[in-house]
This record gives sequence, structure tokens and C-alpha cells, in this order.
Amino acid sequence: MDHTALVVIKKTNNLEFDDKTKAMREYAVQNGVPIIKDEGLAFLKNIIAVKNPKTILEVGTAIGYSALEMAKVRGAHVYTIERDPKMYEEATKNVNESAYKDNVTIIFKDALEAFDDVKNIKFDMIFIDAAKAQYTKFFELYTPLLNENGIVVCDNMLFHGLVSDNVDTTGMTRGLRGLVVKLGRFHDFLFSNDKFDSTLYDIGDGMSVSILK
Ligand code: SAH
Ligand code: MG
Repeated sequence: MDHTALVVIKKTNNLEFDDKTKAMREYAVQNGVPIIKDEGLAFLKNIIAVKNPKTILEVGTAIGYSALEMAKVRGAHVYTIERDPKMYEEATKNVNESAYKDNVTIIFKDALEAFDDVKNIKFDMIFIDAAKAQYTKFFELYTPLLNENGIVVCDNMLFHGLVSDNVDTTGMTRGLRGLVVKLGRFHDFLFSNDKFDSTLYDIGDGMSVSILK
């Protein structure tokens, strides 16, 4: 299937950042932390505004930037999973300093081992934004916790333009090739999964939205 761009954001005013958030953005740039791109964030915030999820599960906290931005839209509770100690520490600090600290619960674990921490919660939305090679596993593990009409949003689906139907993987390092192949397999998994209606948008680094049927 050809993944044609469906939407391009031309303008938005839903990206207004307070000083603390600006500092987080700056920290991400300085330290090479791959936080969500502005275009992707604008889209994510629109989805949340429309969907009005009460509970969101995020896989991949990093410094807590997207978790706090998601909580801000309509006061959802965001449960977010992070395995890296340095990221967890930074995220904890950022969340604790935020007016939305009561809206964010950070789980310091590998997401493949955190199911028991959230298994009693029903989620209106899941945002997958962690190790790209594990997207299928995250999706299979956590989507049973979705509420009726629940949605799954995945970031970095096009991975810097490297994931497409006719990508040439020659010349890539072994690690990168493995990742690109696995993310490609996740595309196949997602778009052949008849429990969900999925759409891939050429926004930011590529975002998919899957709606539980
Ligand atoms: N959502 C964040 C960015 C996340 S970057 C934002 O937009 O602000 C991806 C993060 O996922 C990294 O911090 C990485 O440590 C974490 N990660 C990757 N694989 C993981 C796993 N299996 N379990 C938990 N965290 C993981
Ligand atoms: Mg991302």
C-alpha cells in the first residue's frame, strides 16, 4: 500500500509553552532526547481535545514532556513508562515541578515488564513512543486494556523517512536495518489487524491512529 500524506498542518496555536516547558524543550535539544516534534504534538493535542480521554497510557516517557503536554489538554491522567534511570530521574523532577503533577504517574520499568502495574486500569488512549523495534509487542501487550472505542497513537512511524514500502536498506548499519525492518513489520501488523481501523499520517516523524472497532 502506498502511504500517501493525508494531512499537513499549516498553522496551529495549540503549542504555547510556559517557561518550564521551554526549559524542557531546551534540555531535550542539549541532551539529544528525542521528544515529539511540534507538528506531531499539535496533532496529538488535537486528538486528545476531540477524544477527551480520561486515562492515557504512554510507553516511553523520556523527560516527561509529552506526558505533561497530554495531561494539560483536558486533565487526563497519564500513566507513563520509562526504563532509563537518567530519563526517569529527569521526568520525575519535571513532573513534580509541574502544576499537572497529580495527573502524571511515572512507572520506572521496562514497558515489557510493566503490565502488572497497570493491568487494573482501563485506558481510553495509548501513546506508543518507545523502542521502535518493540512496537508490535507493546501494542499486543497493552491494547487489551483499552476501553470501548479506545485509540492507539504511535509516534515515529516513518522513522526519519526510512520506513516505506520501497526503502533501500543497503548501507545501513545492522542495528538500523533491524530497526527499520521491525518497524516495517509493525506497519504490516497494524494495517492487517482487523480489530482496529488504522490510519498513518505523514505528520512529524509519522504518526498512526488506530481506533478499536
Ligand atoms: N514520549 C517522549 C519521548 C520518548 S523517547 C516525548 O515525546 O516527550 C523514547 C523513550 O522510551 C526513551 O526515554 C527510552 O529510554 C524509552 N524506552 C525505550 N524502550 C523502552 C522500553 N522497552 N520500556 C520503557 N521505556 C523505553
Ligand atoms: Mg517519538
